[in-house]
Amino acid sequence: MSISVGTYLPPWGTSQGRVLGYDEDALTMAVEAGRQVVDAGGMVTRVVFISRELPLLEGGNTAPLLAALRLPDTLEVVEQLGGAPATLDAILSANSGTLVIAVDAGSSAGAAAALVNGSSPLVLAGRAQRSLPQRTRHADGQSFRDDDPRLLRESGLRTSMSALDLPEKPLLIAGLSARDAAVWSSEPPPALPTLGASSPIFALAVLIDSARSGLVGAMEQATLSVAHFNAAGSTVKRHEPKAQKPAARKKAPGGDIKLSLAAYDRAFKSKVGWHAGKCTACGLLSTPPRYHCLGCGADDQWELAPLPRTGSIYTTTTVHVSVPSLESPYTLAVVECDGTDVRSLMHVTDVPPGQVTIGTHGRLVLRRVAIRTGVPDYGHAFSPDAVSVQEGGAA
Ligand SMILES: [Zn+2]
Repeated sequence: MSISVGTYLPPWGTSQGRVLGYDEDALTMAVEAGRQVVDAGGMVTRVVFISRELPLLEGGNTAPLLAALRLPDTLEVVEQLGGAPATLDAILSANSGTLVIAVDAGSSAGAAAALVNGSSPLVLAGRAQRSLPQRTRHADGQSFRDDDPRLLRESGLRTSMSALDLPEKPLLIAGLSARDAAVWSSEPPPALPTLGASSPIFALAVLIDSARSGLVGAMEQATLSVAHFNAAGSTVKRHEPKAQKPAARKKAPGGDIKLSLAAYDRAFKSKVGWHAGKCTACGLLSTPPRYHCLGCGADDQWELAPLPRTGSIYTTTTVHVSVPSLESPYTLAVVECDGTDVRSLMHVTDVPPGQVTIGTHGRLVLRRVAIRTGVPDYGHAFSPDAVSVQEGGAA
């Protein structure tokens, strides 16, 4: 009975709040958080993906999510619109092997994942689902705001808290402003980096780090869920690099490059899952996979083989004047995958342009390379190891 938690914050923004990189969206952040727990081992039997900013509302998020996490494409994925209470509820009711990934891709961006091992370490203490829609976003994309902090505090938070009739104040409540969190928590709570769907998992990470068990809440508008969390045996892996100011970029005028869905389909598995074609006759690796092996000449004898997602820069250049429709400047690199002789051209991400040199070591991370004809085109980019320095200075 425990959870393995993984967290991710984009390296852009300030210590007050993170913003998405130009090549990130809710899906790439979900993969970053999910990889923290999936790469560490642990059996995943089902995935729940919770966000209010799902990249595609009609078809198409589940396959890249599974492929990039290198999970079987036979797993059930639940895509769910939701905020903080939805995530706490999902972990509460999860069976062993359920991976809950929650993402905030708006203001205060971040993502977090929780893999449940055995029965859930959360037990429901109370739930109030009430309607006080101060902020709304409709299916047609229109949004409305009628922010009245006093109404939210009195008719939202106070009323929902009273309805729950808890035996004691929670240790932490996710989804609240710092002021409200201070009033309704049993002791001065640490600031959580997000306020939405991912915030309850960041709260659980705080409790796991300090080995504390107790009540934890999750609030969105007037809806509140509170559960008792047993922190024993749970673990946290964080990727929370120091925040830096996003670099200015300029889009070159001109029409977008059109998507070829046939080419997209052909490249999908090797690109999103980061696989090479491996010749079954001589073992030669090639990216992208080749029909004709350049090692032994065999035709159409290959299978997909996963490549290491770490490597070093073989050569690099920074582009200041891009082709039409792309933003510049950006840095490209030919990256040699660790332990192989496979070299691949990719974007350098997570650092301002021109910051890497030959020999720089880093991770290969899923990023949105482009949006073509409305389709997010995902592939791998190079993130230098220096980015992985955690906020607060720990390695
Ligand atoms: Zn061969």
